[in-house]
Amino acid sequence: MTQRTNPLSHELDAGFLADWVVHSRFGAVPGTGGVDRQAASGADGEQRAWFAELLESRGFTVRRDSIGNQFGLLELVPGAPYVLTGSHMDSQPTAGRFDGAYGVMASAHACFRVADELRASGETPRFNLAVVNWFNEEGSRFKPSMMGSSVFTGKLPLETALATTDPHGVSVADALDVIGERGDLTGLDVASYAEIHVQQGRSMEEDGVTIGLVNATWAAHKFEFLVTGEQAHSGSTLMADRRDALLGAARLVVAARELVDEFEPGALHTACGEMNVYPNSPVVVASEVELLLDLRSPSAEVIRAARMSLMRTVERVQRDDRVGIEITAEHSWDQNPYPEAGVELAREVAEELGLTHDRVMTVAGHDSTNMKDSVPTVMLFVPSVDGVSHNLAEFTKDADLVAGVNHLTGVVRRLAGGALASEN
Ligand SMILES: [Zn+2]
Repeated sequence: MTQRTNPLSHELDAGFLADWVVHSRFGAVPGTGGVDRQAASGADGEQRAWFAELLESRGFTVRRDSIGNQFGLLELVPGAPYVLTGSHMDSQPTAGRFDGAYGVMASAHACFRVADELRASGETPRFNLAVVNWFNEEGSRFKPSMMGSSVFTGKLPLETALATTDPHGVSVADALDVIGERGDLTGLDVASYAEIHVQQGRSMEEDGVTIGLVNATWAAHKFEFLVTGEQAHSGSTLMADRRDALLGAARLVVAARELVDEFEPGALHTACGEMNVYPNSPVVVASEVELLLDLRSPSAEVIRAARMSLMRTVERVQRDDRVGIEITAEHSWDQNPYPEAGVELAREVAEELGLTHDRVMTVAGHDSTNMKDSVPTVMLFVPSVDGVSHNLAEFTKDADLVAGVNHLTGVVRRLAGGALASEN
């Protein structure tokens, strides 16, 4: 990697890394390097307050919209649309400190740098600058994932999102009010969007690539199943008389794994990540199980075929195990490309900075998955060591973090100057 080595860029990198260290303290899980900072939790609230101060100290105005997306706005050209850049600071329970949060911090510093350059040169850009911390990207406490950007782009009704409850019955609206993060910003005029994220896979590390030019997202289909049986004594009830909801759920877990073998290697990823068993008690056959299962593939065809095969299993389990299986919610997105012009812009910036780069697909969904359908969008990755993700041990090297900020700065600089705007 041939980074430019002038003393100023060294100072800027040190400034980013210093803020990065502070930011990682919010929701930190002691002794691990990871965090537990679920959406609208106390730790999320504290971090948002700190982040607002950081933005304000650099001349940005902090506003929230009605679903708790947090924006830092810098108006350089009165009335002009904004170049928006950001990601999310919420995390899965006990997860890494890089997922999402790196993108928000990198975006803030990229905007600080571009703003300072503009102030120094006296140049007027075409667009204003805005940083965003999207609400509830992870979808662990409140489902679905990417909630803030889905509401922002009109894909999810605000009222539906606000009424969603966590496992303790607390609604999004109430949780946001507790941390004071429900606002009234509306109608932000966005010219273009940029996001940077850790890869959450190991291909870039293996290929020696510093900047991933994200050119498409995998398709995904997420199910919430409710399996219903009959509560019974786990010892005295005759085996033939049982209707075991947990057995039915277990068959779906196994079916999800076996589904993968019906396709080419690498064509389908599946998992059941969450199960809630009722009454979940030692001497009781379960009467009810909620089960969350997801299918992911680069091919929408594969997802369709996998869904049909899974539905055949559902019918068989209902019949053979005498349980009811109901789909209570489904949430999906198609495989679809990121705009080619954004990929090309990112490639040019990587060339200019002498950073190794390659086109990569994203398996995970990101807020940019929503934004790219509304505005010209650039999506970038930096490597993840061993691809470890949604795990306390997630790690990305400082050199890659810093390279990503430098790259994103180049992208934001060009977007502010009007790049990609003619596509709007
Ligand atoms: Zn993320």
